Amino acid sequence: MVKIAIVGTGYVGLVTGACFAEVGHTVVCVDNDPKKVAKLKAGGIPIYEPGLAEIVKRNVAAGRLRFTGDTADGVRNAEVIFIAVPTPPQPDGSVDLSFVEKVAREIAGAMTEYRIVVDKSTVPVKTGEKVAETIRRYNKHKVECDVVSNPEFLREGCAVEDLMKPDRIVIGVTRPRPVAKMKEIYAPFHAPVIVTDINSAELIKHACNSFLALKISYANALALLCEQSGANIDDVVQGMGLDKRIGRAFLNAGLGYGGSCFPKDLSAFIHIASQLGYDFRLLKEVERINADQKAHFLKKIRDTLWIVKDKTIAVLGLAFKPNTDDMRSAPSVEIIRPLLQEGARIRAYDPKAMAKARELLPDIRYCQNAYAAATGAEALVICTEWDEFRNLDLARLHKVMAHPIVIDGRNVFDPKKMAEAGFVYKSIGRPE
Ligand code: NAD
Repeated sequence: MVKIAIVGTGYVGLVTGACFAEVGHTVVCVDNDPKKVAKLKAGGIPIYEPGLAEIVKRNVAAGRLRFTGDTADGVRNAEVIFIAVPTPPQPDGSVDLSFVEKVAREIAGAMTEYRIVVDKSTVPVKTGEKVAETIRRYNKHKVECDVVSNPEFLREGCAVEDLMKPDRIVIGVTRPRPVAKMKEIYAPFHAPVIVTDINSAELIKHACNSFLALKISYANALALLCEQSGANIDDVVQGMGLDKRIGRAFLNAGLGYGGSCFPKDLSAFIHIASQLGYDFRLLKEVERINADQKAHFLKKIRDTLWIVKDKTIAVLGLAFKPNTDDMRSAPSVEIIRPLLQEGARIRAYDPKAMAKARELLPDIRYCQNAYAAATGAEALVICTEWDEFRNLDLARLHKVMAHPIVIDGRNVFDPKKMAEAGFVYKSIGRPE
């Protein structure tokens, strides 16, 4: 059992803290947002993530998980301190590391004996060196410290499962001393462990996210070819994905990627590469294909409706992906805003993200369920592939809509079934 502090109790910090507690470690989660800490202390969960609420509740009750607003409290009561604060993008694509630096200073200020400080935030290669330097500079007691890079690979929407059953654990160190403790923390998860230097560990994370984004853009480029040639993207990616060298995951054509990670990590990686003297044109193209995909989908909506002004459009799905309430860089926003500007009325429904969506999209009508959103709509647009949309009663949907037109940005429905149900159905890369 290891005593752990996690600074930054967001999507990564809270799920990591809860899962560490679940396997028996003692965890204190720190956050500088007093409202978040108060909510957690009162038994509330500030984010939606399947299975998370139960784990938090169980471990708080067992005395293995608690919350505080005070970093020094975390540093005093832990052998290992994880940093899981935001690393947002700056206008030039580079990473804003001020959150990480601030936390490193706070940890250094509170450290009175040896600690392991682990960076879990996604950071540019060579950040670990800077964190170590900052801790040395701001530690008054001049105690020893090891900085470790331990990037996080969880996916929102199945974060608990990803944390409990990781594909691998990456541990970047400058010397062997912290390795045993890191392995002890991760031993209950039974995953392959890769021990490497800090720069390689940091690079692994950006390399992974960029490669996954590349797969999505590749599938989207193929979908365009399918639309031009009459081929079917579903069959093309299945034929590709069964090849073990390629794999089926992330070869999904659609609206393009969004979320809090891919867009920012890709632009960060392009920026990092350029600072290291390499023009990562391959990834610039991945970004361009992704942006074009949204423009292409908007054109599909315009081509179908002819004039968007004064039309009532239902939008199903607002979160950047299913099973989360996260609206950061959600593609739905990039679709809805231009439609609003062109004079459309939007009636939207999302199973979990409507509260967060209201802050970004105040001028749309939020509805209780998919049928309510579709009522009176002249077209229905799908932006997120929630499972509950797959199971909609098509006859009922057809009945409530003013015109049975569905423009599907996530290929949720079978085109044949939609035609049989009497819909005009447009999707991505599949014959109509
Ligand atoms: P988040 O915004 O959900 O959470 C970050 C938390 O840190 C917030 O609660 C914020 O209040 C807190 N915070 C900020 N400054 C602080 C400080 N000085 N002291 C204490 N708390 C502070 O962000 P996230 O999605 O959890 O991402 C965190 C990091 O993990 C980022 O670098 C991100 O790129 C990376 N990451 C995210 C995911 C994901 O799916 N969200 C996956 C892998 C890696």
